[in-house]
Amino acid sequence: MAYNKAKILATLGPASSDYEVMKKMVEAGVNVFRINFSHSDHDNARAIVEKVRKLNEEMQTNIAVLADLQGPKLRVGEVEEGAVLKKDDILKFTNKDVQGSAKQVFMTYKQFAADVRVGDRILIDDGKIMLEAVKSNGIDEVEAKVIQGGPLKSRKGVNLPNTRISLPCLTDKDLADLEVAMECAVEWVALSFVRNPNDVYELRDILQKNNAPCHIISKIEKPEAVVEIDEIIEASDGIMVARGDLGVEVPMQGVPLIQKMIVNKCHLAAKPVVIATQMMESMIENLTPSRAEVNDVANSVLDGADAVMLSGETSVGKNPVEVVAAMSKIIAHVEESGQVQVKEENPPRYRNKRFITDSICYNASKVADQVGAAAILTMTFSGYTAFKISAHRPQTAIILFTANRSILNTMSLLWGVRGYYYDKMVSTDETFADIKKIVREEGIVSEGDLVVKIASMPIHEKGMTNMLKIESIEED
Ligand code: PEP
Repeated sequence: MAYNKAKILATLGPASSDYEVMKKMVEAGVNVFRINFSHSDHDNARAIVEKVRKLNEEMQTNIAVLADLQGPKLRVGEVEEGAVLKKDDILKFTNKDVQGSAKQVFMTYKQFAADVRVGDRILIDDGKIMLEAVKSNGIDEVEAKVIQGGPLKSRKGVNLPNTRISLPCLTDKDLADLEVAMECAVEWVALSFVRNPNDVYELRDILQKNNAPCHIISKIEKPEAVVEIDEIIEASDGIMVARGDLGVEVPMQGVPLIQKMIVNKCHLAAKPVVIATQMMESMIENLTPSRAEVNDVANSVLDGADAVMLSGETSVGKNPVEVVAAMSKIIAHVEESGQVQVKEENPPRYRNKRFITDSICYNASKVADQVGAAAILTMTFSGYTAFKISAHRPQTAIILFTANRSILNTMSLLWGVRGYYYDKMVSTDETFADIKKIVREEGIVSEGDLVVKIASMPIHEKGMTNMLKIESIEED
């Protein structure tokens, strides 16, 4: 099994939902499986979660599940074969369920005419078709002039980069999908088209009311979200740079710098960040990636992404296992170079509630690298120390022990973190003797190695982490 520090998130679909294929994908390096609710129904989602749980038992892994909610994605309806839009044509968007053509098309979103103003851009099919609104009746029809034409196909997505959409971030479909995600206790829920922190707090509220253990990933794919990025990072447990829609909603040349800015901000806030979309796109068809794709994955890892994501490559592609293996190889090679570093240090400076723990985590990561420790060992119930240590990007392996199975899987997304189940918090000495034995048996450390241990003392109170110790692995 591959043990890289940067993690791989793979989307499941018809090409990869078979149990044996999933198993091979895990062996090749997958850490988190993604269910895309834009394409998955509820029974399929339940079946996938069941397979992942079984796989964790069989393979002794902690693979997490991420349920990706579609969000307020607008789409056109069915369109007749062969419809092509030409420059300066007028296309009517209507809420009447008509068969689409080059003259008119069904728009699923009821508030479309109320939201779109004359002069607004309307983009179809990932921006391949570009129009400008020239007329709206404010009720159910908008006419738009074609600026850049192309084939108009059924059910393609529509983006409105300059329009304030009044649809809530969580649509009725999302709420129904979320019920299933909570019922399955998935570890991560991704919220699409987040516009402001309130979208995230709304989801958080639902999760809390339902006592759901799910952590929230906000997908950044709207210009409004880029403007409010600091507040969105604070409200979320993690961030996804959703480059597919983002590159349609903002000028495409802006995406690389937005990606770097978000990665840097996430490090400073100790929140994991996922880079998504078209990372290994050509492997949907081919057995090897393009050179540009290899560079994209490598640069994302060098920038310090926690995880890189595969979408169509694993959900519908011809080579779901090979693409994971290729990605894993790129990550391993970059990490061997030792060049993955945080751009800015963020030592804790303020004496807030978590100051002592934050300080222990920061110094554990520094001292571990300074003494060349083989591992940082941490015990956690909430995962807090793992988030913090991971964000400082130590060269040393971060090994987490927890009695919380959900947290164990959740942490699989975090850079550099490997977890083990452990539930005997008796005394500090006994616990440390146990966990040192585990890391030794797992081949993470060997005799003569140094380890950095952090814990809360007294250990059984599971309180604030307040102890750091450097220790040598002695002969048994
Ligand atoms: C994206 O737009 O990059 C993305 C990840 O979203 P989705 O795959 O859900 O469209």
